[in-house]
Amino acid sequence: MNTPRVLTRFLIGYLLLHLVAATVFVSISSRSTRYQMVKNTQDKMKSLALMLQAHVQELPAGLKNDSLVHHVLKLGQQTDFRYTVIDADGNVLADSEKGDQNIGSHLDRPEIIQSKTNQIGFSNRFSHTLQKPMMYLAIPHHNADNEPASGFIRVAVPSGMINKSIHGLQRNLWTYALLLGALTTGLLTLLAFSALRPLKGFADAARNIGHGTLQQALPTNQRNEWGELADAFAQMQQEIASREGQLRETNARSDAMLSTMIEGVLATDGQGRISIANRAAERMLSFSTPDVVDRDLLDIVRYPELHTAIESARANKATAKAEFETLDPDRRRIKARATYLSSEPEQGVAIVLRDVTDLHALENMRRDFVANVSHELKTPLASIKAYAETLRLGAIDDKEKNIQFVTQIETQAELLNLQIQDLLEIARVESGSSAFNIANIDINQLCRQSVNDLRAQATQRNVELLLDVDDKPLIAKAEGNGVTTIINNLISNAIHYTPADGRVELRTRHNGEWVEIEVTDTGIGISPEHQARVFERFYRVDKARSRDEGGTGLGLAIVKHLTQAFNGQVELESQIGKGSTFRILLPAK
Ligand code: ADP
Repeated sequence: MNTPRVLTRFLIGYLLLHLVAATVFVSISSRSTRYQMVKNTQDKMKSLALMLQAHVQELPAGLKNDSLVHHVLKLGQQTDFRYTVIDADGNVLADSEKGDQNIGSHLDRPEIIQSKTNQIGFSNRFSHTLQKPMMYLAIPHHNADNEPASGFIRVAVPSGMINKSIHGLQRNLWTYALLLGALTTGLLTLLAFSALRPLKGFADAARNIGHGTLQQALPTNQRNEWGELADAFAQMQQEIASREGQLRETNARSDAMLSTMIEGVLATDGQGRISIANRAAERMLSFSTPDVVDRDLLDIVRYPELHTAIESARANKATAKAEFETLDPDRRRIKARATYLSSEPEQGVAIVLRDVTDLHALENMRRDFVANVSHELKTPLASIKAYAETLRLGAIDDKEKNIQFVTQIETQAELLNLQIQDLLEIARVESGSSAFNIANIDINQLCRQSVNDLRAQATQRNVELLLDVDDKPLIAKAEGNGVTTIINNLISNAIHYTPADGRVELRTRHNGEWVEIEVTDTGIGISPEHQARVFERFYRVDKARSRDEGGTGLGLAIVKHLTQAFNGQVELESQIGKGSTFRILLPAK
């Protein structure tokens, strides 16, 4: 385990404190010891001085005694002290270091000056005679108690001795202090390590939780603060796990909802960056990048109408709408609704997109259809109304005309009837394949029946109607009535658009998975630009001619829708002036 930083800091702090305490202790101890030692030395020096004075007083002739030098030298050898006997003029009479050498007047020495007034003098200074720091004590010498001072007795000791003792003491104190410091620091480290050991476990657990790994094992059975912390930790893990589960569930639910939505959903933040985009939105707006979240919407989508709506929603804190056409080849029509998100802290906008292309086309178709139907029905109705009016205004009495007008009314009424029947048929077909009862049916049989039914019509127009089918049945999957309507419409058209002496032929054959029904004529043909459109409702190449032929413009639309309802296909080949071939492919059995 790495030393926890807090522990290192604590230990360094402790060590510094210990050092400061040791310094204070050592310096106080040294000072008091020095004071004590100096005092003791001074007391000792005083005793020695007094002893020497007593000795001198006993000498005959006192200071002038010849044996004084000898005595002083001996005293110096026996003790660590220096003794100096000085006369009243400052001359050194005897010195334990220098004998009776003349070492100059000593009256100016501070201890001597002091002793004159205080009866005792101290000084701590550098000795120029001995060239080292010394401590001095001097007392005035009296030959007898009542006599004035006849000289001075001085005792000195090198102050270095005291310093040496103090240094020794300091060295010892420091050694003990450092040893104690090392010992207590070591002990503290051990104690702190064992006390802080679980901390690493908590740190690791917290880190793992941060990385998303829940369920970290922690020492929960300890009966101390760590145990309490571990319990709190475990509780927190449980809480996080349950919240995470809830969050994941909510996210998954909203993701699933968003991805299955038909509407495109986008959301942007205050900076216009995409925060949500579902699949439908990607499809509608053809995003070129796979991951658009956090990208600027302006970089991804370039429909000014959409951006204006978003800006307006944000500026007015309301909802704004837009409608635009996409730039891709499909040219889808999209309706967008941008709503300001007041609950978001940073002015987000939610955009819902709806693809209204089919709806739009359907609406157009419905509008066209209603207009076409009205127009188609109006023509025969107007004729009927005109003939009836003419009859009422007098033509009813005109024996030649009235029959003719009534016949016209009948013809127009029949046309109206045909149109309504065709409209009903197309409504039925468009309601979807479920309205048909698809079964295996014999196409050849149906063809024979249709040709029989329409032969009279062909003969009347002097058009040859041929049938080229096998005697054997040809089975397709479709509905009988529907197929009959297809065949009848195609043959009927072929007869109508083929001039007299022309030929119409109905053929069938089996071609792989298909059953083919082919109606070929030698009629007027259809130019290429009309070929695709003749299958549209009410589309006619030549309106007047179609009407004259009693056409409704719905025949081929019915053929196409029926064929599609039977999962089949329609093909058309035609050449102007040469004729046309309509081919129906139905799934074979
Ligand atoms: P209509 O009732 O007018 O015949 P249809 O939907 O059956 O309506 O046909 C649409 C148009 O296609 C016709 O008006 C006609 O111009 C053209 N058409 C259909 N069949 C033929 C054909 N066999 N030969 C030439 N033109 C045809």
